[in-house]
Amino acid sequence: MDDEKSLQIEPKPGSLAWLEAHETVEVDGWELPEVHRLPEGARIHRGEDDGTCRVIVGETRCRGTRTRRWGVCLPHAGGGGQDYASMSRAGHAERSRLKHARLTLGLSARSARDPRHHARVLAVARSADVAEALVSAPLDDPELGTIERQQAVVRMLAETFPLATVSATIELPDEPEAVGSIGWQDMQALAERLPEE
Ligand SMILES: [Zn+2]
Repeated sequence: MDDEKSLQIEPKPGSLAWLEAHETVEVDGWELPEVHRLPEGARIHRGEDDGTCRVIVGETRCRGTRTRRWGVCLPHAGGGGQDYASMSRAGHAERSRLKHARLTLGLSARSARDPRHHARVLAVARSADVAEALVSAPLDDPELGTIERQQAVVRMLAETFPLATVSATIELPDEPEAVGSIGWQDMQALAERLPEE
């Protein structure tokens, strides 16, 4: 009866028994299940067993509790929840997306702590979603009435084709004596529009 039972039970994925069922490989000369999750370039801390995972990544040692069998923590050995790996990949992808957006905006990590800067970084990182919300969503929303849609379009145009980018030209009189006829306000406007040198 006991034999029958043990034959039917497969080790639970991520459990120590499940890890035990895998082939092993050597990482930095240390035996680990082939499903281990040590990142490229990770090292193994040698020396007395102090109850802590032996994995060192860069200069940092993992603070997880080691499994007795492997000397590294369960996630590093390849056990535990089996979606850790994809979660970690998604986390890395998100971080690198944010970093890219930050660099695009020329922001330091410090200034990115400013909420407004942080919002700009997020807006760049999610620019496709922002454009969708700004342009497509109001146009495609069947719930919007004519006036609401028109207001949304006006706002969308103001953001995408701002009138402020229209260039200004000013006509100067040909005759020197006529220059005096330029009004004070026109002179002010002219002065403001000339590029600073
Ligand atoms: Zn670890």
